[in-house]
Amino acid sequence: MSIKLTILGTGTFFVNKNRSASAYLLEIKGKKILIDCGPGTLMRLSQLGIKLEDIDYVFITHFHADHTSDLFPFFMNFRLNDFFIKNKNTKYPKIIGPVGIKKFIINLSKDFQLPALQKWNKVEFINIKPSQKIENIKVEAYKVKHIAFGLRANAYAYRFSIDNKIISFSGDSVRCPGVERACRNSDVFVCDASYPKGMGNLAHMDTQDIAEIASKQDVKKIILSHFYPQYDSVNLIKEIREKFSGEIVKGKDSMIILI
Ligand SMILES: [Zn+2]
Ligand SMILES: [Zn+2]
Repeated sequence: MSIKLTILGTGTFFVNKNRSASAYLLEIKGKKILIDCGPGTLMRLSQLGIKLEDIDYVFITHFHADHTSDLFPFFMNFRLNDFFIKNKNTKYPKIIGPVGIKKFIINLSKDFQLPALQKWNKVEFINIKPSQKIENIKVEAYKVKHIAFGLRANAYAYRFSIDNKIISFSGDSVRCPGVERACRNSDVFVCDASYPKGMGNLAHMDTQDIAEIASKQDVKKIILSHFYPQYDSVNLIKEIREKFSGEIVKGKDSMIILI
């Protein structure tokens, strides 16, 4: 069995044609799992020929808009399809995220003056648990530290395990026990690589942090993501190579990795 990881986006709020906001698609045993849904994610999916109704699960790492701004439009695609088509065979996704994920969408629906969720429960919203099974996949969520503009986000790293393969996603995080535990022994670790060496802050790691945790936790391959254009020309791989001997890939939008 191979696991297919498609990098949908490797950017942040600074969306451009080469870097949509950070989002990923995991395909495992016929199931499609979307991780995060920021600006440009739906367009990337459509460019890759992936229909929204084919997505089985959406995991949200945290509520920052560079990871969630396409989530309400994603939801509305299903809501409006139900309104227009009323096809009983339509498959609806499960959306899993930090506590309050349903309220997050309800609040958006109020602010957008589209109260489309009330009395309509076909898209299921689920608060994440520390560990759960979906299909045969073990999904663990680890709370991470991510403080932006003085406010700590309720942010998680995810770890997917199946058939002795481990794929982990840092989400947005500084170096902290949660992200270290999530990436332990990963075959692939998709990592917040916002900053060059020495630039890490309360919101994101830098290359030094990444190299140290990946080395300590015996990660096999790192996929770098969540790039700011301000640092995109820095040789991040060289900086990480100083302390990490595994494989390092600088993520590109639409890149496919078979695990
Ligand atoms: Zn964030
Ligand atoms: Zn972010």
